[in-house]
Amino acid sequence: MTWNPVTGCTKVSQGCKHCYAERMAARLTAMGSDRYRNGFQVTLHPDLVDIPRRWRQPRVVFVNSMSDLFHDDVPLAYIQRVFATMRDCPHHTFQVLTKRGERLAELAPQLPWPANVWMGVSVEDARVLGRVAHLQAVPAAVRFLSLEPLIGPLNALPLEGIHWVIVGGESGPKARPMRKDWVDSIHRQCRAAEVPFFFKQWGGVRKDLTGRKLNGRVYDQFPEVPQPA
Ligand code: SF4
Repeated sequence: MTWNPVTGCTKVSQGCKHCYAERMAARLTAMGSDRYRNGFQVTLHPDLVDIPRRWRQPRVVFVNSMSDLFHDDVPLAYIQRVFATMRDCPHHTFQVLTKRGERLAELAPQLPWPANVWMGVSVEDARVLGRVAHLQAVPAAVRFLSLEPLIGPLNALPLEGIHWVIVGGESGPKARPMRKDWVDSIHRQCRAAEVPFFFKQWGGVRKDLTGRKLNGRVYDQFPEVPQPA
């Protein structure tokens, strides 16, 4: 499930070109949703920060599907509040994904890193590979890479200290193609480094037609779940 204590964002790299959150926000604004009255501008929703504390059943929670928690317009004190909620809810697993690796690395020493917070960066092509080094500096129990939408080759992935790799192609009307040799290369690198590999989808204009098999099989590997300290 998703939890969106922040909505809205701005684009930082080619991976943002067909941002799903931007399209969804436009739709919700048009429908008159109060949460999206500012459209896709960064908007804090302090009334949602404590919501996970009320969920009794353990859940896997994707944090900020409609934004980037490490956007410059989200104050450190607010990010700290979001992390405090995650720390205080060890029965849930939180997955946080950012394209702002630099700010993540800068703020990481001022945030708690409990075992139930999985931290990832998105890398769509080699131009933004530097985000991996920023993630490697973060003391999260699980550090993951989301190579999605993959729009270029990544033949030299630094996988030291990385616990999980997800690969996926872009989908939707203007989807940019993902080449099979790019995926095979990443898969080989993960196998060599013994990093769990999750192949999400080929994507394309009709993703239902392309599926998610790679060389005849589904790759659904997950990292080992860390135990709380
Ligand atoms: S960082 Fe994510 S949410 Fe923000 S514009 Fe890019 S793709 Fe969209």
